[in-house]
Amino acid sequence: MYDLLLKGGRIYDGSGMPSYYADVGIRSGKIVEIGRLNAGAKRTLKIDGLAVAPGFIDPHTHLDAQLFWDPLGTSSCFHGVTSVIVGNCGLSLAPAKPEDRDAVIKSFVRVEAISRRVLEEGIQWKWKSTAEYLDALGTRLGINAAALVGHIAVRHSVMGEDAVERQATGEEVAKMKELVRAGMQAGAVGFSTNQNPRHIREDKKPVASRLAADEELGSLLDVLAEMNRGVVQLSGGGADARGRIAYAAQMARRTGRPVLWQSINHSWSRPNHWQEMLANTQRVFREEGLPIYAMTQAKPFQNRYTLLDAQCFDEFPTWKSAMFSPVEVRKQMFADSAVRKKLRAEAIEDRSPSVFPRRWDVILVDHVKLPKNKIFEHKSVQEIASAADQDGLDWFLDISLEEDLQTRFVHTNTQGDPQAVCEILKHPAVMIGQSDAGAHMGYDARFGYSTAFLGCWVRDHGIMSLEEAVNKLTFRVASVFGLSDRGLLRPGFAADIAVFNPATVNTLEPEYVQDLPANETRMIQKATGVPHTIVNGEVVIEDGAPTGALPGKVLRPSGRDT
Ligand SMILES: [Zn+2]
Repeated sequence: MYDLLLKGGRIYDGSGMPSYYADVGIRSGKIVEIGRLNAGAKRTLKIDGLAVAPGFIDPHTHLDAQLFWDPLGTSSCFHGVTSVIVGNCGLSLAPAKPEDRDAVIKSFVRVEAISRRVLEEGIQWKWKSTAEYLDALGTRLGINAAALVGHIAVRHSVMGEDAVERQATGEEVAKMKELVRAGMQAGAVGFSTNQNPRHIREDKKPVASRLAADEELGSLLDVLAEMNRGVVQLSGGGADARGRIAYAAQMARRTGRPVLWQSINHSWSRPNHWQEMLANTQRVFREEGLPIYAMTQAKPFQNRYTLLDAQCFDEFPTWKSAMFSPVEVRKQMFADSAVRKKLRAEAIEDRSPSVFPRRWDVILVDHVKLPKNKIFEHKSVQEIASAADQDGLDWFLDISLEEDLQTRFVHTNTQGDPQAVCEILKHPAVMIGQSDAGAHMGYDARFGYSTAFLGCWVRDHGIMSLEEAVNKLTFRVASVFGLSDRGLLRPGFAADIAVFNPATVNTLEPEYVQDLPANETRMIQKATGVPHTIVNGEVVIEDGAPTGALPGKVLRPSGRDT
């Protein structure tokens, strides 16, 4: 007798091996049999040929706090995600003594753009140590969570506010090592740090980990090497991408542990940069045999704006001063040919790296105000301007002025070139999923990296077989993080399962909901084609809606889950 029987699905078992039709029998939270099963079951789900895969494991989230008020980690659970890693980017909620909690909040608020009121109302600090945090987290979970020990919290625990002022003494580093060791012994799956020069706290001070000397970080990572356990997760480090790869390689050489670094993505302002990064990663990964993995995004990041509300020009001084001027002054500036010359020089002619794409062929007209301009919608500024024998910037500003700055444009900042994205996603040293779930909840939602990958890239672009795609989202992630009984459909493995329809699976556009502590609003993102998400043998999502079951566990390496 099974607790749950999945009847008639097509099994993509996570290994990358060919898929096949079979039933899955589940008992006491584990898979007990796969094949043509005839024993009875308390509950049978008719799968009718849909894909049955191991639940997806999201390697990069900031759900550390959210899981306390939202144990399903919405919206991750809607996308077939059954396990998430928290504590990324040096940010964890433990260890933290009462006097250090505000320092931790200050960092979360700014780096991950989670509102202070939400954190203050949503977190009940019942812990000081990582062990106590994991125990608190495990009391009420819908999906599974595994945690990294964050460098920022460790530094504040030992140095207090000095952590954002200076380097550590040898004695302080020794104390930090003890905290990392205690966290790892309690069941953390690794250590994260943050050297990203843009990452500051609410009070504009650099996050604490940025003040660490290389030797401090190296000493803390030695703990992982000595224990032969855990991953190293890096945010920033090294002056540029080449430096970041060298930095990641150095950490891998020192520790022998897997190192995750951020990130390889395509960007229009440096359209060939991703190739150089892949080649460098390939060299370290293949030739030196070091386990370093680059993170990448499956979901292109789209920017929609008018010249009333655009922020994408803020990196250029003349643009910024126009956008911060009253609308009438702004219009005069946009009409002035001397100003236009500066605008063109800053945004287009200057070739230095920028977030803005610096080219008109990837900037499309999204929506116009005047009926006569309808013909321009969904065409690129370049295409329209060339046909009229006009300069791109002139056309862009002219139509905006004609429409009272209400013309809406759209461009893709990262992952905009499908050919590049295909190459990045296929590479074995690349890990998919910079979802950042739980972060910047006010203006962005990328929970659906798995459904975007399966729908957009695997089905629509056909970049790899579904078997290989499932393998990337499951077994590979479980292997890197040492989650030894997850990521495969095999007898004896935990029954974490995503059931999806390969023909319809996709991510939906983000939407706003007001469901946060302190009554605040956030963006969520739902999916299509994922009828069931099953965690530890219990259905948590059925036809897109939560069932109320809360079977999640804290995942500790070597199967000590609770
Ligand atoms: Zn992050």
